[in-house]
Amino acid sequence: MNLLNHLIARIDIDGPLSLADYMAECLLNPKYGYYSTRDPLGASGDFITAPEISQMFGELIGLCLAQTWLDQGSPAPFTLAELGPGRGTLMADMLRATRAVPGFHDALDLHLVEASPALRQLQSETLKDYAPNWHDGIETLPQQPLFAVANEFFDALPVRQFLRDGIGWRERRVGLSDGALSFGLGPIVEQSALSHRINDTQDGDLVELCEAAAPISGAISERIAAHGGTALIIDYGDWRSLGDTLQALRNHAPCDPLEASGMADLTTHVDFETLCVAAESAGCAFSRLTPQGVFLERLGITDRARALAAALQGDALKNLIAAHRRLTHPDEMGNLFKVLGLYPATATPPPGLQS
Ligand code: SAH
Repeated sequence: MNLLNHLIARIDIDGPLSLADYMAECLLNPKYGYYSTRDPLGASGDFITAPEISQMFGELIGLCLAQTWLDQGSPAPFTLAELGPGRGTLMADMLRATRAVPGFHDALDLHLVEASPALRQLQSETLKDYAPNWHDGIETLPQQPLFAVANEFFDALPVRQFLRDGIGWRERRVGLSDGALSFGLGPIVEQSALSHRINDTQDGDLVELCEAAAPISGAISERIAAHGGTALIIDYGDWRSLGDTLQALRNHAPCDPLEASGMADLTTHVDFETLCVAAESAGCAFSRLTPQGVFLERLGITDRARALAAALQGDALKNLIAAHRRLTHPDEMGNLFKVLGLYPATATPPPGLQS
């Protein structure tokens, strides 16, 4: 048995799968799922993320959260949380950079929301000095001030896709054609969750719906509204998604999302409006959606790069310059990736996210 055979057997019994069900199987099937079984990150993996590009990313995120913690009166104890921590690199850089912030480490409880046993194992090695607590979901995070980060977490959540047809929608589904996986369309149905998209779409447009995103944003926001804190959500996407943004990556190259099921990373662009609507109804404020490059420049990435550069030469210096460019330049990650801050309605936005 492999994932493809498992999917074919499931489709034979249940009929075509929604794209969300297909993504959930590919990414998180306990036996064959992409994240469940491997470390996908880094040069030897399938894709590379900002914290894996340079330590500067995690350092600045850590200092941003610590400054927000100071601005809110240094609440103790508090939850320092990461959603989808990958190898633990981002959190390790955040913790190292904040060691000198008075009281921050003494007051923090470290909590990691991670679905993958393989990555939990890696995180336990990277973060062994900080006694992390792991969670399957957000609901079990403690009811106390919450300072959280999520980098490339929401883009890994399963989405459904719908094609506009008149005033109804046809769901894009994964079925079988001549024994192979293939995309098809379901019957026209009304979708109350997409009623807000009737005014900004036309016949034939495709929109994506991530049903898991709003409850997660809502649960984070409830804690922040009730106890204080902030969340930094960094991902690729925009205010509203339009069109098919499903992307499969294997060995750093795009591939067909229906090929290599369970062996490629699958992501879609994040629809930040969904996160903000859920945050607002849970009583939280949200910042302006800010390009990653602008955010990192405001936090002082160029000064940090200069300080690191002073001790480097040759290839190490070239790599640092390339990493700075990759994280900030509009032609690289600087514009595609956005940063959203959630914070108490009575507070100001975190550093780097003020309008
Ligand atoms: N934040 C890291 C890793 C991003 S990859 C970085 O920037 O390098 C996505 C991460 O989210 C992985 O750790 C993956 O296992 C985790 N993940 C994906 N879907 C999840 C889910 N539904 N619940 C919890 N963790 C999930």
